[in-house]
Amino acid sequence: MGLFKKFRDAWFAPMSFDSLDDDFYDRLEESLILADVGMDVALDATEKLRRRAYDDRLLTADQVKGALRDILAEKLEVGDSRLDLYTQPSVILVIGVNGVGKTTSIGKMAHQLKKQGKKVLLCAGDTFRAAAADQLGIWANRAGRANVDIVRQHEGADPGAVLFDALAAAKSRRSDVVLVDTAGRLHNKANLMKELAKLRKIIDRELPGAAKETLLVLDATTGQNGLIQARQFKETAGLTGIVLTKLDGTAKGGIVIAIAQELQVPVKFVGLGEGIGDLAPFDAKEFVSDLF
Ligand code: GDP
Ligand code: MG
Repeated sequence: MGLFKKFRDAWFAPMSFDSLDDDFYDRLEESLILADVGMDVALDATEKLRRRAYDDRLLTADQVKGALRDILAEKLEVGDSRLDLYTQPSVILVIGVNGVGKTTSIGKMAHQLKKQGKKVLLCAGDTFRAAAADQLGIWANRAGRANVDIVRQHEGADPGAVLFDALAAAKSRRSDVVLVDTAGRLHNKANLMKELAKLRKIIDRELPGAAKETLLVLDATTGQNGLIQARQFKETAGLTGIVLTKLDGTAKGGIVIAIAQELQVPVKFVGLGEGIGDLAPFDAKEFVSDLF
């Protein structure tokens, strides 16, 4: 699929898998660390490969690559990477700090869902910043106004009230999917977490039987630092998946493995640019088979 071409070219393409000496394992470990898979994963994957190479008497470069693929794939097995959208309506709450790409990713998802024939409703839940709802409106237009509605209120409105309106509109208009944008920053972090917990409660209360996703958007270029924020969101929000944006701007694609291991939540989408088509579903099997 080539999504991780930069990653492969930077770390694995230059490696020779022909002789399994100490030098090989040192270089592998180093490449994995530089590729941002995280220290624990790098050490563990290298050690596992060393053991498997010995136990299974791996000889050829292809056998070694196959074993490494299996080991990395196991690290990505933390849940289904497909969206659960099996009810009408279903709801996707999109959270994350400012600037990671929440609104952009919502625009891209709306576009994809619309192409699948779904009726999409956007909820402008970021009422904190003046331009946020306008930005979402622009994405709604790009995604195709005919089947992509938006519910918004004035700046400073209670995000819970906007969400309540949006869910009511989704029920009466028979929308298939509600995509909820949220603020990435409020007056302080505790406020933000409280607000997000409240939004989740409103969704549970208004649509008790609905399929719900809570997607945390992370910026791949922030690497391991992004993971620290992610932990706080995980505690509050009950994440069901990750959208990893800006992979076009980094070769450190190993962060997908670090995320899966650290959060035990599957990466569901990867962002590959600023255009409406630049969002791809993430598939762990494709990812590892594409590495070497
Ligand atoms: P939000 O504050 O989380 O809603 O972030 P925005 O959606 O406003 O995006 C912040 C910036 O990141 C914008 O300039 C986007 O164009 C950019 N952006 C979002 N996703 C991607 C991506 O996958 N690749 C690149 N290169 N830029 C992105
Ligand atoms: Mg935004």
